[in-house]
Amino acid sequence: MSTLPGRLVLLGHPVAHSASPRFQNAALHAAGIPLRYEALDVAVEDLDATLQGLALVNGAGNVTIPHKETVAARCTRLTALAKRCAAVNVFWHEDHALCGDNTDVAGVEFVASALLQGRTAGARVALIGAGGAAAAVLCAAERWDGAQVRLYNRHMSRAESLAQRFSRFTQVVPSVADAVRDATLVVNATPVGMHDDALPVPIDLLPEDASVFDLVYRPAETAWVRLAREAGHRAADGEGMLLEQGARAFERWFGREPDRGVMWRAMH
Ligand code: NAP
Repeated sequence: MSTLPGRLVLLGHPVAHSASPRFQNAALHAAGIPLRYEALDVAVEDLDATLQGLALVNGAGNVTIPHKETVAARCTRLTALAKRCAAVNVFWHEDHALCGDNTDVAGVEFVASALLQGRTAGARVALIGAGGAAAAVLCAAERWDGAQVRLYNRHMSRAESLAQRFSRFTQVVPSVADAVRDATLVVNATPVGMHDDALPVPIDLLPEDASVFDLVYRPAETAWVRLAREAGHRAADGEGMLLEQGARAFERWFGREPDRGVMWRAMH
């Protein structure tokens, strides 16, 4: 992007809980870019009007729940990855056209490959959840040689329609226990554990060598990550993914890398 966007925003509903304004504003300040990143709480029925307003000012930003799929549908240009995910978490304007990308996939890749210590080839992934975040996990796993995913969701029909798009390596299973059997990586892509200490997968179901990746993030670690680590598993919550997707978004908007150290410190 050659000229600065007129506004830089996060579109979501709700957005008050988001850590993105904190670390994006810290990165903007550190880079000397004279913009403020604003969280915009946009109801579903107001999304199109908001996008029209942003088009007038060459707006850019992030997208979160529940707008990722709709913004993807509104974009004139999508990266191949955003098309594959059918979801956009980063947008900007080029020649007045709305453009979208998906950097959640890079966020997943960053954390998952660290947890697997680079051994993503042949990974056996248990994936709990079938929404937009689960699609990003599947887009990441698709690039791992020989990886297999067992997908569980409380509503089977949603699991079936997501798995259909990734059927070469994804199988829907009827229970959490079936998903985690023999897994090397167990991923929570539901909001379970966001507001309380509920566990998406009981700790005693985790295979001994499995790593645990909770996409949920909270001010303190989630109970699932804490208990899994106490039981000897490598485990990470959603903070690292959030930060990496945000850093890649910053690169999209400004064509240069942000200071990830500054972003990380602003988050804590
Ligand atoms: P979404 O599209 O709304 O999908 C939510 C998924 O969670 C669906 O599969 C839904 O199942 C399931 N679910 C919801 N409540 C549940 C419950 N009480 N018990 C069991 N399953 C439940 O949301 P999303 O965008 O995929 O996000 C999912 C989670 O990932 C959120 O907590 C979000 O915070 C996190 N996330 C983190 C990052 C990050 O950067 N760290 C990025 C994106 C998302 P049904 O289909 O049965 O309703």
